[in-house]
Amino acid sequence: MPRTDAVLAEPRVAAAVARLGRDLVKRSVTAAQQRARLGEIAPDAVADAALAALPPSATSLRRVLNATGVLLHTNMGRAPLSAAVVDALAVAAGTCDVELDLASGGRGRRGAATVDALLAAVPGAGAAHLVNNGAAALALVATGLAAGREIVVARGELVEIGDGFRIPDLLVSTGARLREVGTTNRVHPRDYAEAIGPDTGLVLKVHPSNFTITGFTSSVGVAELARIAGAHGVPVVADIGSGLLVPHPLLPDEPDAATTLAQGAHLVTASGDKLLGGPQAGLLLGGPGPGAELVAALRRHPLARALRVDKLTLAAVEATLTGPPTPTRAALDADPESLRRRARDLATRLAAAGVDAHAVDSVATVGGGGAPGVTLQSAAVSLPERFAAALRAGEPAVVGRLEHGRCLLDLRALPPGSDAALAAAVLAVGPAPRKG
Ligand SMILES: *Cc1c(COP(=O)(O)O)cnc(C)c1O
Repeated sequence: MPRTDAVLAEPRVAAAVARLGRDLVKRSVTAAQQRARLGEIAPDAVADAALAALPPSATSLRRVLNATGVLLHTNMGRAPLSAAVVDALAVAAGTCDVELDLASGGRGRRGAATVDALLAAVPGAGAAHLVNNGAAALALVATGLAAGREIVVARGELVEIGDGFRIPDLLVSTGARLREVGTTNRVHPRDYAEAIGPDTGLVLKVHPSNFTITGFTSSVGVAELARIAGAHGVPVVADIGSGLLVPHPLLPDEPDAATTLAQGAHLVTASGDKLLGGPQAGLLLGGPGPGAELVAALRRHPLARALRVDKLTLAAVEATLTGPPTPTRAALDADPESLRRRARDLATRLAAAGVDAHAVDSVATVGGGGAPGVTLQSAAVSLPERFAAALRAGEPAVVGRLEHGRCLLDLRALPPGSDAALAAAVLAVGPAPRKG
């Protein structure tokens, strides 16, 4: 039996120690030695077996190919980042000039380039600030503008986002009081007008980003709210949720930051990792004039420090805004005919290897990130149901969708570059065992 020290000193194993840490590699070596003792492997195969059993990186997170047809899947970390963003993260990971002016050697303004990129991307924005997520942006706004005062908000907009996160609970936790107006399905301008008073800190408009109500409904738009609240000198804050910065033709009902500011919202809050396609982050955008002043004041609020984003987020948001189209955007804009072609090619390849696979038309959705009710034409590879669990156990894991007793691998959320990995994952599971 090779000694542990000797195996750890082997160049390939030593390289793994440098990459993954000594404890993890040593445990793998010990397990391989145990297998050799049991006669499962030869003693001279200990190093190979130990290396083969190592995880690909020091994180326990596993790569997952999202074949669900849900573009922004909360359980899979919402928006995937582009290669350009990953490059930017690598730069920021080391020591960098995040708060340093290299020309003068003095202190630089933290995050200035990221804020500039945001302002360039949102026509009409006068100021911007970044926090850790959409909820943090709302918490900062509610604390800064309405702690100990009232937030006027429509009953139909008191929404639960997911995993038990309720916007009204967050708002109340800041010390603000809710002044609910209207009913679940209907609210009118006069409801707001009657509720606004000397105690009003802000009027909040929340985009119901994960449901739609239809039928006998009415709501009050941002432009009208800005007129009503503006007459009392009260700011209107719009939580648009998805982080769409300008309108998108496939998402006509999804509010975007530029339009919302143009309609007169003083402040807009949004997430970075939904339709914006970036990392987890919260955007706070102010319109020109009073909105910009509110952003400046909120940036100096003591709570802002507790919600401050790190250098990784600053780099990733900047690269998301200035870099090539995000994977989320590419998935949204994918041409259905090219998705069908990919599904056919994949199915042909898999069927040739004996897998019961065929291409089918499919319907994809945007998911937890916004645009409820929007459906996107898509295409999928249809496999026997038993593939679902086996594919989840693979490396990389593949998560599809079960429909009518078949496992569908929907291609809408996957870039074309992942088709080879998808095919390999299916082939690793293999065709159905032959009977008899
Ligand atoms: C997603 C969402 C939030 C919460 O944003 P996080 O980035 O998940 O904290 C708040 N409001 C709306 C309307 C949302 O859609």
